[in-house]
Amino acid sequence: MNAPAQVAAMDLAERARRAAKVAAEFADRVDAEGRFPAEGMEAVKAERLMGVMIRPELGGESATLTQVADVCAILGQSCAATAMTYAMHQIQIASLADYAVGSAWHEAFLKRICDEQLLVASATSEAGIGGNLRNSICAIEVDGPIARLTKDATVISYGAAADAIMVTSRRNAEAPHPDQVATLFLKEQYTLERTSVWDTLGMRGTCSDGYIFRGECPAEQILPRPFAEIAAQSMLAVSHLLWGALWYGIAADAVARSQAFVRAAARKMPGQTPPGALRLAEASNLLQQVKANVVAGLKQFEAAKGNADALNAMSFSVAMNNIKVGTSQMILVIINHCMLICGISAYKNGTPYSLGRHLRDAHSAQLMISNDRILGNTSTMLLVNKQDTSLLG
Ligand SMILES: Cc1cc2nc3c(=O)[nH]c(=O)nc-3n(C[C@H](O)[C@H](O)[C@H](O)COP(=O)(O)OP(=O)(O)OC[C@H]3O[C@@H](n4cnc5c(N)ncnc54)[C@H](O)[C@@H]3O)c2cc1C
Repeated sequence: MNAPAQVAAMDLAERARRAAKVAAEFADRVDAEGRFPAEGMEAVKAERLMGVMIRPELGGESATLTQVADVCAILGQSCAATAMTYAMHQIQIASLADYAVGSAWHEAFLKRICDEQLLVASATSEAGIGGNLRNSICAIEVDGPIARLTKDATVISYGAAADAIMVTSRRNAEAPHPDQVATLFLKEQYTLERTSVWDTLGMRGTCSDGYIFRGECPAEQILPRPFAEIAAQSMLAVSHLLWGALWYGIAADAVARSQAFVRAAARKMPGQTPPGALRLAEASNLLQQVKANVVAGLKQFEAAKGNADALNAMSFSVAMNNIKVGTSQMILVIINHCMLICGISAYKNGTPYSLGRHLRDAHSAQLMISNDRILGNTSTMLLVNKQDTSLLG
């Protein structure tokens, strides 16, 4: 396919909406059965959305992070598991597309992602480390042209369904815990021994089981840049922004359902304002704050992209951390408002106003890299960094 250099936002959004329609149809079943959102992800692939951020020379469309965030928000309104799978895949793509430039192996792999619509998972969490992305216990062993790695990975979302996994580790057995590299292993180059089953409150369709990962691959598959740089300049910010976008999507659908509930109530009693109307206005107000938070973060990211100093600035990290903490907290308040508006129709499963899945999925947001851990990190930066008070970005 000869993709245009810049895809119009409408085009991508249109394709995302078509995929979201399929994902929505299966969302309740994916959740109830705790299974991979196969139909939603097949629809995403059919719309050729997997490699959109990759440059056109490699088969991609050079989509911006903002465009991809919009896709996440659209999918989030239909099926949070499909949206999270797509978002986590794009987080890996962002790292590969920008931090493996010039590496022939990785560029050939990026081309394969576009051609074959491959799905990439990530294994950063590790037993004994928790959610501290910037530390590893396991170490990659480079033996001439071959690299070997064993990792006790506590959570690998859609690990069993992925075509490749990006795995963090120490650079070598002598390296300190934060001296990490990331390696991309192809499905045929690793085995996964399941150690835990993802039977959770929400985000059930991400199938984020725990595994002992054992991989062996050519050493050229280790990303050329240190993981410290990839995490600081890309992965953390992109994660917070794409997660924030899909969490916004979950809350937006909750507000849409409660708006439909209030409208139906208004139709039943002409001339009177339904009791939920005021609370709906409040929910709409809070939803706008989440949107503004994510949009402002995306603008800041797009402005800083390619500028290592801007991306490494503490004020940038503080802003990205605040987006994650703020959106993850606010969506719970919004969905709770919507629950109060729709009452028992929201609490019950299987009604047009059901919100149980939304609420359960949204509860993962504060834990997905613990807000306490992020606030701890921000508080350290605020000891030395001046609070940004400008409205100009
Ligand atoms: C839906 C979902 C999908 C996921 N997918 C993946 C995946 O594909 N790959 C992957 O690698 N990981 C994945 N994760 C894991 C995730 O990124 C974190 O590793 C995990 O949520 C952290 O788990 P934890 O709460 O046990 O660990 P911790 O981060 O260790 O936190 C445990 C508790 O300790 C406290 N705490 C810990 N450290 C601090 C600190 N410094 N300051 C203050 N309090 C602290 C917090 O209160 C926290 O509740 C996923 C998680 C979710 C929810």
